Amino acid sequence: MTEQQSLASLSSSADTASSKEPDYRAIHSAMPSVFRIALPVPLPTLFDYLPPTVGEPGVGSRVLVPFGRSKAVGVVVQADVPAQVGSAKLKRVLRVLDDAPLLDPELMQSLAWAADYWLGAPGEAYANALPLLLREDKPLPETQEPIWALTIAGRSALDAGSRRGGSQALLQTLLAGPMSASGLDTALPGWRPAARRLAEAGLIERGKVMPAPGFSASAPKLSMHAEQEAAVAEVTEAFGRFQPFLLDGVTGSGKTEVYLSLIERSLAAGRQALLLVPEIGLAPQTVRRLRERLGVPVEVLHSNLAEGERARAWLRMRSGEAKVVLGTRSAVFTPLPYAGLIIVDEEHDGAYKQQEGFRYHARDLALVRARALQVPVLLGSATPSLESLANVEAGRYRALHLRSRPAATQPPRVQIIDMRAQRLEHGLSPALLHAVDETIARGEQVLVFRNRRGYAPVLLCHGCGWHAECPRCEHALTLHAAWRKLVCHHCDLQAPVPAACPACGSQDLKPQGQGTERLEEALAAHFRAVPVLRIDRETTRRRDAFEQLLGNLQQDAPAILVGTQMLAKGHDLPNLTLVAIVGVDEGLLSVDFRSGERLAQLVVQVAGRAGRARKPGRVLLQTHHPDHPLLRTLLAQGYASAAKELLAERRQTGLPPYGHQLLLRCEAHQRATVDAFLAEACAALPVVDGLQIAGPMPAPMPLRAGRQRGQLLIESASRRDLHAAARPWSMLLAQLPNARKVRWSLDVDPIDLY
Ligand code: ADP
Ligand code: ZN
Ligand code: ZN
Repeated sequence: MTEQQSLASLSSSADTASSKEPDYRAIHSAMPSVFRIALPVPLPTLFDYLPPTVGEPGVGSRVLVPFGRSKAVGVVVQADVPAQVGSAKLKRVLRVLDDAPLLDPELMQSLAWAADYWLGAPGEAYANALPLLLREDKPLPETQEPIWALTIAGRSALDAGSRRGGSQALLQTLLAGPMSASGLDTALPGWRPAARRLAEAGLIERGKVMPAPGFSASAPKLSMHAEQEAAVAEVTEAFGRFQPFLLDGVTGSGKTEVYLSLIERSLAAGRQALLLVPEIGLAPQTVRRLRERLGVPVEVLHSNLAEGERARAWLRMRSGEAKVVLGTRSAVFTPLPYAGLIIVDEEHDGAYKQQEGFRYHARDLALVRARALQVPVLLGSATPSLESLANVEAGRYRALHLRSRPAATQPPRVQIIDMRAQRLEHGLSPALLHAVDETIARGEQVLVFRNRRGYAPVLLCHGCGWHAECPRCEHALTLHAAWRKLVCHHCDLQAPVPAACPACGSQDLKPQGQGTERLEEALAAHFRAVPVLRIDRETTRRRDAFEQLLGNLQQDAPAILVGTQMLAKGHDLPNLTLVAIVGVDEGLLSVDFRSGERLAQLVVQVAGRAGRARKPGRVLLQTHHPDHPLLRTLLAQGYASAAKELLAERRQTGLPPYGHQLLLRCEAHQRATVDAFLAEACAALPVVDGLQIAGPMPAPMPLRAGRQRGQLLIESASRRDLHAAARPWSMLLAQLPNARKVRWSLDVDPIDLY
């Protein structure tokens, strides 16, 4: 991470004139004083407006301004600065929306830093930070959320048993007392349609005032083991100042307990805490665990939240009414006026990087905010990113370790199954099937992990070798048997399954390879006595389906789970003792320099699902490359050793985290247009020492959804040099002759080159 960029450097990128420290008085007489405003448009500038006729907005306040032929809501970034053009060209702020700034100085400063670092349009950074409702020309919503209560008629209906299903469940839930919408989200996921029906029938009603909070910590506290105590003590000691920590502990080692204990201490000091999790970590189970333990309201922020609730949670944190927020990526923008602590769980997770529009990284922004707020920041993972490990190595982060698993007797035993020369049954080896058989015979549960959904990744003609391909991507189409469709996993194109080969007419079309759907079918046919549950994006499309599917397993009866990486986290399944990992070979052979790191993380995360309770766990890894050095190290010595080897390779090759990258992506219908733009961009790159340029070249996936794709990769051993070139360059790109004919984007620290 570079030094903090001042706000001044941000606006100077919008207009270089203002950075030359003009004689203020001299200019003041000639030039009017203006407000410099961030507007939600993808342009790399701020916009100047004359003061409103009524009111004086402060920095961080929202204003309504005329923009083009309509109006826009923007945020004041600088107030009362001399304009660069005469007043004839300037328009006036129409209205001040906030008497007091909505965004405090710290958030303004961190956003400016973020826009500058990730080369985003300043307005887009603000648009990411503000919940949608707060970007509109409307009064701020009340911070109290609606609550729901039974009416007298509702009570009678419940007694009479006249309602069924979801309606009945909601009435039953509200019998204990009125509940808030977020309370219902946890207690009774999917309650809204029933609420609508019951409200129309007059059986429940919506109110505003929550009865006495009634929160009290109900879950018993565990007595922490020595390593947990040590971790908590070290972080607590850093309260009140900036200090990053990396908490490295295998799944089940008690990291969440450490978070809870630290949040409790932060609360006891009257301070707010922010806990970031990847999307998958937001299972209602986690939310419940937090609420029960902390005994205070916990705000939950994620992308599926209703806009009103999102805005309310944000405002409650801003006012200090709320003390704890648990959220995914964009929750990193929550105001924290009374900040005490920031925690990033599963810090290695790629979901923290936004992959479109404003391409920020929530973990990195969490560090920047912690520094601005002068609070400790705790990154936790069973499989830390190489970036964070390098920061520990460089002394920037302090490492904390949890080596034992309190609940388990022993770590799972990991074995490789050599698939070569084996007779496979739908991709499953005899040894693997045998282990599954043994496990369910003992009455335990099995997880079969395959990171590929669908029935088969390829549909091949046995007659002539033709295979079904997406015409828009030139990649094999995946066969989805239940839907009777071929689907492109890159562009979502869907096509019917042909009855005969379109090339030779043969009807001998064979699915090649296995997806989760096929494994589910094969396992269900082989093990008829136990339920086989598939968990992937298809079977969990419906909200809460994931929880429900896993909920079915909690009775601990023997069962087989088949699924993608959605299964790497979530419910604790104490009776799950065997994890079989199939089909990781793609990860070993991929050209992406991060694929080794990703594979190691995935294997360890999935393996961590085995043996979480008292029963010993076992992990089988089925591969055609049993001697691959990465697998060998990982299995014999563990993640830390594998990561060390991967880091040594990165250092030798100058790749991140030892080198720094900036990727210019470009796509258009014609290859020639892509090439022309990238050539112009390459020529426009400022001359800075120590930059390495790779390309212009076709993207690793040169065609996608019918568009030709290309890229230019800029690398440097020095972050400073890279940004010195990147900032002016990003301003020039939009003006290049071919810029309007292509779609282009810049990605600072890209996490994939795809
Ligand atoms: P992680 O977040 O590292 O996966 P958790 O904090 O969820 O680990 O802990 C895993 C399991 O161990 C949970 O069931 C938790 O309640 C239990 N646990 C954690 N710490 C302790 C402790 N000190 N004593 C007993 N059980 C513990
Ligand atoms: Zn054919
Ligand atoms: Zn496609």
